[in-house]
Amino acid sequence: MAVDMREPIESGCPDGFQYMHPTSIKNFGQWKYHTHPRPGVLMHEAYSGDRLYTVKCGTQRILDVFTLRKLCDIGDEYADGHIHFTIRSLPEFLVDDEAKVEPLINALEGAGFIVGGTRNSVAMISHTQGWLHCDIPGTDASGVVKSMMDELIDEFRECNMPNRVHLTTSCCQINCGGQGDIAINIQHTKPPRINHDLVANVCERPSVVARCPVAAIRPAMVNGKNSLEVDEKKCICCGACFPPCPPMQINDAEHSKLAIWVGGNHSNARGKPTFHKLVASGIPNNPPRWPEANAIVKRILKEYKEGARDWERINEWVERIGWPRFFEVTNLPFTKYHIDNWRGSRARLNSSTHIRF
Ligand code: SF4
Ligand code: SF4
Repeated sequence: MAVDMREPIESGCPDGFQYMHPTSIKNFGQWKYHTHPRPGVLMHEAYSGDRLYTVKCGTQRILDVFTLRKLCDIGDEYADGHIHFTIRSLPEFLVDDEAKVEPLINALEGAGFIVGGTRNSVAMISHTQGWLHCDIPGTDASGVVKSMMDELIDEFRECNMPNRVHLTTSCCQINCGGQGDIAINIQHTKPPRINHDLVANVCERPSVVARCPVAAIRPAMVNGKNSLEVDEKKCICCGACFPPCPPMQINDAEHSKLAIWVGGNHSNARGKPTFHKLVASGIPNNPPRWPEANAIVKRILKEYKEGARDWERINEWVERIGWPRFFEVTNLPFTKYHIDNWRGSRARLNSSTHIRF
């Protein structure tokens, strides 16, 4: 018997073409070149001769509905009704006429948004937003971003860096987040505190034991209840046991710190991707302005700006001058904890798509 197959129910991302600027759709895949007429603006020219101007602006990062409406109103009035958000969550407006660029910039700046973030500027910090939606954050990464970008506003607005600078932050030590020229991440410095009354009710103990990368967790009976214990000599304070077992609390107002890493790069464009390396640790997790972490990031950027050659990314600059010189010029202390002596790295961490082993 013939059976009518039902149509699949589409889910996931909607088709992006329905939202694109008509000039983008018309010239899809047919762009000839692009230029950078001024900070915050890109001009793409297609083989057809059409030109499309992109104006990028910064926001306070976590957007309330009123700010979103304001951005959309500006898009409706000045940008042919089109707006999109970049992977770093910055709004971009597209216009097909050079005469529309200046009024659009004036409208954005008049409403308090900062136009910039293109080419060799400090781009918007990409970050995780655990404070709003996740169950394990140790800091408010969005707040770190806001305080840091307030300090780096001129570097976002102008193109004064040797090359593009990508900053990232993560609100826990193990999960989301990626490689950045400079990354500001949570760093736990004490093993988890176990609430033995709750473990048996809340945690699937075998999964928690399996989760530990250094086999520091064992099942245990405590006060007549099934629980877990941690060998604190082995524990590396990674926090991986906390998501599957919330009674193993690792976040701590005093002992959850920030660490700064330097030289990561996802891109395959000119060389193989690189992992960022730890350069500063034990930095106070100090809201609402995180002054200690900000000072270190600004110090690294200052030395990079002064010492790097044109178009050198931070990892290339450090590779050329060497890590000893990096610590010297940035005046950051180098300790034994900066040495990566994990024996599994060669076998486990495939860092390149060029060569895999
Ligand atoms: S970085 Fe960690 S805490 Fe932040 S959103 Fe991702 S998993 Fe959650
Ligand atoms: S914090 Fe990490 S190393 Fe320590 S017990 Fe938990 S999973 Fe293991």
